[in-house]
Amino acid sequence: MRTHRIAAIPADGIGQEVIPAGLAVLRALAERCGDFRLDVEHFDWGSDYYRANGRMMPEDGLETLKRFDAIYFGAVGDKDLPDDITLWGLRLRICQGFDQYANIRPTRVLPGLTSPLRAVEPGDIDWVIVRENSEGEYAGHGGRAHRGHPEEIATETAIFTRAGVTRIMRTAFEIAKNRPRRLLTVVTKSNAQKHGMVFWDEIAAEVAKDFPEVTWEKELVDAMAARMIQRPRSIDTVVATNLHADILSDLAGAVAGSLGVAPTANLDPSRRHPSMFEPIHGSAFDIAGKGVANPVATFWTATMMLEHLGEPVAGRLLMEAVERVCAAGIRTRDVGGTATTAEVTDAVIAAIKGANL
Ligand code: NAD
Ligand code: MN
Repeated sequence: MRTHRIAAIPADGIGQEVIPAGLAVLRALAERCGDFRLDVEHFDWGSDYYRANGRMMPEDGLETLKRFDAIYFGAVGDKDLPDDITLWGLRLRICQGFDQYANIRPTRVLPGLTSPLRAVEPGDIDWVIVRENSEGEYAGHGGRAHRGHPEEIATETAIFTRAGVTRIMRTAFEIAKNRPRRLLTVVTKSNAQKHGMVFWDEIAAEVAKDFPEVTWEKELVDAMAARMIQRPRSIDTVVATNLHADILSDLAGAVAGSLGVAPTANLDPSRRHPSMFEPIHGSAFDIAGKGVANPVATFWTATMMLEHLGEPVAGRLLMEAVERVCAAGIRTRDVGGTATTAEVTDAVIAAIKGANL
């Protein structure tokens, strides 16, 4: 029997609701498939841990996580703590510490869900956004000078390295190559950002030589935002910087019907460290504790985790179960339904139990 070790970190807000839902679904799936088991360990890291211990995770937290095959993560963010403590103290620490440089964000309109875009039907949109996840605008470089004075200045420096841009470009071309349309859009802002972004375009052209089967094109990020709304069917695989892809992928989540259905995987493609799987959304203060969070993003990211762990059959089975439940109208409020998190979870578990292998 294959065993996969999973570190579960629900963290804050609705993370505490969707991760237990995801684990219940994963347990049902392992039982149904019968040929693998998940060895799950829970970690209570996050904002409450911070209030008790003065840090979001223990000092040796990364050392602890190293032994796992994957990390299943909820969300961080607390009303009473600054985002830079919660985000940098846990989620970004894991992403950066484990060199999870490729952030993969698939978007589809699931059956039964409605896109806010007129005339977009389920099946019309099938995008993968590849987000550079280790450098760029979120590298943490910059500073403040003359604090509190009228001449105060703050800088936020985007860092792009040849190694960093080349590896994300290779990952994106590789993904595009394995998709039916084999189209990659390289998103930059090279008209206005003439150093880092021109560098991206140059490296894209170099890497493209190794992928003759992929058609690629350049698009500026502002034009890309408009294109996602106006010509959504023209898009397949997209690669963009940390900041640009962060914004475009929330837009993608909204186009798919809700942030509550949008999953993401933070991969270390070298597999030297565990990769991390999470919903795109945050801790959602407005609905936390009400039992109405949409667990679909957290289920979908579990399918990505299963694929990464070498369990593609289980991954497909889970995705089919999720799609069947969405199509049957068992949906949370954010996607026009009335179901609770628990009701959607129970329906997905029932669909898994009833599935033909
Ligand atoms: P958010 O994603 O938490 O919520 C945005 C909106 O989407 C809210 O109206 C929320 O109710 C809704 N929503 C999100 N997920 C949902 C779900 N599963 N089901 C139903 N509705 C859902 O973003 P925000 O409000 O900007 O941020 C709240 C906190 O989360 C902040 O502290 C922010 O920094 C943090 N955050 C963390 C992450 C992360 O951990 N990866 C991502 C984004 C935001
Ligand atoms: Mn984001």
